[in-house]
Amino acid sequence: MEQENKGFQCKRCGECCRGEGFVRASEDEIRAMADYLKMELDQFKKDYTRPSLFGDYWLKEKENGDCIFLEENGCRIHNVKPLQCKTFPMNWRNRDSAQICPGLK
Ligand code: SF4
Ligand code: SF4
Repeated sequence: MEQENKGFQCKRCGECCRGEGFVRASEDEIRAMADYLKMELDQFKKDYTRPSLFGDYWLKEKENGDCIFLEENGCRIHNVKPLQCKTFPMNWRNRDSAQICPGLK
């Protein structure tokens, strides 16, 4: 949510964390998040992840589809968020990204 390069400037709106979508995370990333929140790894997995189709993890969503870590003032785990989040939308994006991300408009 903070990238600035190639004419792109993140407006820190959080739109990329809202609604339907899959946030993928590796075992190492999950461990870093659990450590950051001072949680046991197994409990973190149970509370905040589900298995992905690729053998790693997806972060859970809230009932409204928002990422489980999205809070009023931004990402609860900003310092250790997955690579997918760190690199959006410069290195990772999908066909809907231009519609949701004001930094790309
Ligand atoms: S982990 Fe953080 S940056 Fe990534 S989608 Fe969730 S709230 Fe957004
Ligand atoms: S939608 Fe775009 S501008 Fe908004 S927080 Fe995400 S990357 Fe930044």
